[in-house]
Amino acid sequence: MSTPAPAPVARPKPPLPECAPSQVGPCSKCQQPCHRYGSGGNPLCVLCRRELEEWQAGK
Ligand SMILES: [Zn+2]
Repeated sequence: MSTPAPAPVARPKPPLPECAPSQVGPCSKCQQPCHRYGSGGNPLCVLCRRELEEWQAGK
């Protein structure tokens, strides 16, 4: 009887970025496509940014 592998943590996918395709790049943390380049771009997707903000807030 083998031990089942732990299920990967289910994490929601960030919404697809609403920007020019040329400004889309992989999130530096979860590799999901996000608005990474250009005006308003961020190397982190909205979900990772929210996690970071919550972490910084001490949650
Ligand atoms: Zn991310």
